[in-house]
Amino acid sequence: MPGKTRQHITRNEALLFELSSPGKRGYQLPDLDVPAVDAASALGPGNTRQEIEDFPEVSEVEVIRHFTRLSTWNYGIDLGLFPLGSCTMKYNPRVNEQVARTEGLLWAHPYQPEALAQGALEVIARLEAALAEITGMDAVTLEPAAGAQGELTGVLLIRALLESRGNPRKKIIIPDSAHGTNPATAAMAGYSVENVKSNGHGMIDVDALAALVNQETAALMVTNPNTLGIFEQDVVRITGLMHSRGALVYMDGANMNALVGIARPGDAGIDAMHLNLHKTFSTPHGGGGPGSGAVAVKKHLDPFLPYPRLKCVQDHWTFDYDRPRSIGKVRAFCGNFGVLVRALAYILAHGGPGLRQATLDAVLNANYVRKGLEPYYELEYPSPSMHECVFSDSRQAKRGVRTMDIAKRLIDYGFHPYTVAFPLIVHGALMIEPTETESKQELDLFIQAMAGIAKEIEQNPEFVLKAPHCTRTSRVDEVAAARKPVVRWTRQPAAGKAD
Ligand SMILES: *Cc1c(COP(=O)(O)O)cnc(C)c1O
Repeated sequence: MPGKTRQHITRNEALLFELSSPGKRGYQLPDLDVPAVDAASALGPGNTRQEIEDFPEVSEVEVIRHFTRLSTWNYGIDLGLFPLGSCTMKYNPRVNEQVARTEGLLWAHPYQPEALAQGALEVIARLEAALAEITGMDAVTLEPAAGAQGELTGVLLIRALLESRGNPRKKIIIPDSAHGTNPATAAMAGYSVENVKSNGHGMIDVDALAALVNQETAALMVTNPNTLGIFEQDVVRITGLMHSRGALVYMDGANMNALVGIARPGDAGIDAMHLNLHKTFSTPHGGGGPGSGAVAVKKHLDPFLPYPRLKCVQDHWTFDYDRPRSIGKVRAFCGNFGVLVRALAYILAHGGPGLRQATLDAVLNANYVRKGLEPYYELEYPSPSMHECVFSDSRQAKRGVRTMDIAKRLIDYGFHPYTVAFPLIVHGALMIEPTETESKQELDLFIQAMAGIAKEIEQNPEFVLKAPHCTRTSRVDEVAAARKPVVRWTRQPAAGKAD
């Protein structure tokens, strides 16, 4: 549907400095009713100045309009579909924000005596128990503040266990489809990384894995469903293989959106895993935090968990610091507590059947998008999708249009772009995760937009290559913006340079 686009606000907004005119004020003070004091003579001339160079002088309404107009340039989940794959950008119920602001929880202080914090401690204990049940694991720590820190915690637990058995071993095996944090984690925990290939179905090649595992292998880090949105169907065989050779299996659980209430990693033999509470359990994310990378483990890793651990003594929750084999603390206090409150509220409000339904809807939505787009885009790995689907731009590339160009054109249709060029094993990847919270109407609009772009590329690739057409700036130099960000206003910017 070329031309039929949702309109963005395209108005150019001047910088506050450029709106400034001398003498304007955002306030009015009453006349002095005490004798005036000359600041320079009271403070000393070296401590005062007549004016602050380039200080913007604007009225109150100018400030308000300026920032309100800027705020309308944001695209967020409250505006429309946010189909970024790998990140689960779903709508999170507002009511959980309210719950997180419950006075007793909001103002709880980490140094409050345990006797006065029993409610907050119970939130932690109940969430740990709920997550253990959901994952099929034995114990959970809520300390880590993000998925990546959860990974590091989990791998340090594995190292501690192997060390206690006499040899921490040297390497960690990671599939070629893994998220970049996995190899970074392994390296930070002192391991070298070995890659295992995917097979034609987009799953770990078990024979290739078997050939790699030896006495030096500490663990396999596996994401399930993996970053292609495909379930690792051989996971039970894989955990059996690793265990038979004295190695462990860490699961990156960032994609639990596809499993909650349906399958439990613990039942498949996973030893340790993390959950991204800010992806799966109702904390909005994308702005850099706060987050929570809860780590769930089997019994044999429990003694090494970060301390303190909560325990119940005579109907009272108390912290147990007597954990001689613990890897130590990984974060101050109890993690990002507000995120934990939201997660527990979300889990309790849904209940088991509700969580299961959310998973079914997420998987249904991803497969609906996949089927809708299959006629237009190439699917390199045709295995059934779980919560996300990954296309390649190979058909469009023949006409010179790549995944980034399609994403830019999608902005004209009023959608946030999907994840571009990840995972790396798909050439020119378009990674799409609609999540469970999208209606059929919204998904249909998205499919229409993507189909429309595919048709545009057939007829007029040049047009798509110049997209976006409906935003206030079109293509900007993204490399320069990242490498040499200009965040300071300097007097007399070059005319017409608004980017
Ligand atoms: C998001 C994500 C991570 C990292 O989690 P953060 O909370 O951003 O640190 C790791 N692995 C996968 C597969 C992810 O999607």
